[in-house]
Amino acid sequence: MPAINAATMVRVSRNQVRRSTGVSGVGQDDSGCTILHVDMDAFFALVELRSRPELRGKPVIVGGGGNRGVVLSATYEARAMGVHSAMPMSRARRLAPTAVILPPHHSDYSEVSASIMALFTSVTPIVEPLSLDEAFLDISGSLRSMGSPRLIAESIRARVNDEQGITCSVGVASTKFVAKLASTRAKPDGLMVVPADEVLAFLHPLPVNCLWGVGERTEEQLTRLGLRTVGDIAHTPLATLRRALGNASGSHLHELSWGRDPRSVTAHVPDRSIGAEQTFAEDLEDVAAINAHLLGLSDQVGSRLRASGRVARTVHLKVRFSDFNTITRSKTLRESTDVTQEIYEVIRQLFAALGASRARVRLVGVRVDGLSETQGAAQQMMLGEPEHGRRDAELAVDQLRARFGPGVVRPGRLIDPAAE
Ligand SMILES: [Mg+2]
Repeated sequence: MPAINAATMVRVSRNQVRRSTGVSGVGQDDSGCTILHVDMDAFFALVELRSRPELRGKPVIVGGGGNRGVVLSATYEARAMGVHSAMPMSRARRLAPTAVILPPHHSDYSEVSASIMALFTSVTPIVEPLSLDEAFLDISGSLRSMGSPRLIAESIRARVNDEQGITCSVGVASTKFVAKLASTRAKPDGLMVVPADEVLAFLHPLPVNCLWGVGERTEEQLTRLGLRTVGDIAHTPLATLRRALGNASGSHLHELSWGRDPRSVTAHVPDRSIGAEQTFAEDLEDVAAINAHLLGLSDQVGSRLRASGRVARTVHLKVRFSDFNTITRSKTLRESTDVTQEIYEVIRQLFAALGASRARVRLVGVRVDGLSETQGAAQQMMLGEPEHGRRDAELAVDQLRARFGPGVVRPGRLIDPAAE
């Protein structure tokens, strides 16, 4: 396996991309390597360092405060001291007593993530995000206009660094799982190309647990069979693997061990609608109580709209009664919105128009569709719409929630429906 030496592990700086360009990489022949796996390095931590440049090169941990918090992200300097994500903060503090601990700013991470995904989409329309900070790209349609896979990967790394001030690592291969393994091997701030005809030489020395689908239990079973490397799996008769692991799992691992992974990169299709529903523990009759729940659901929908940078044109109410009879009502707005109070106002009127004041309600739902990007709506509001004060207030609440958790601020009437 290509070694990542200790010196590479601790160097993460803005100039790293340029310095490391061309470094690492199993081989040079990138023909047929049309799948990229791009993964940000220590994502939350490096985003935080943008506003704390004096902490660059130091052990930094991002995570919740108090002793019940967990590590969300850590710089490579902190990782070198044994800290890793999901570790209890109390343990991380003991391992890295000199580390600086920063609280997370989730809205910043979402914003950087959206920019990175937009950058990927400018390279190819076939982008499959795996999380906020990593994605597969199928670049087969971009080669003619943008150059070789290696050049495209280099340019993505340079752009992420220049535009976002953070570093990423890229794996370039002919299959998804090899591309993902390659980006992991290239970390941090690296690039690795695994040429199609060197896949087996790359894979076979790796430990079995690097294959997708090998968890602790499977690893134990493989160890019992004396199989420690991917090459060991490849050279075990398929029948033996199937007997030990089951047919599906045995065949799957055998295929992967020979570098065969037919899965294609699947572009993410954005939601066509956003909705939330709630089934009550006991059927409700009281209109004020039902309205309080409708406000809470409108709030969930509104904040998801704002987080996704979109506005909605049509609002739908769904009501299921105690006899399971279900009705829906909808209203299309004159102007699209992402304002919770506007969504709720429509929902409240739709519910009132049902005349269901004495009905026993089992479930209510709020959904919006006719989604579009927020930009147009923001311009509308600048032209003197009266509602922008509400939207600003709700955006402030979104930020508080991103920082302190969803329970920190609730719409007033949700807390006390009787106060209306
Ligand atoms: Mg990452």
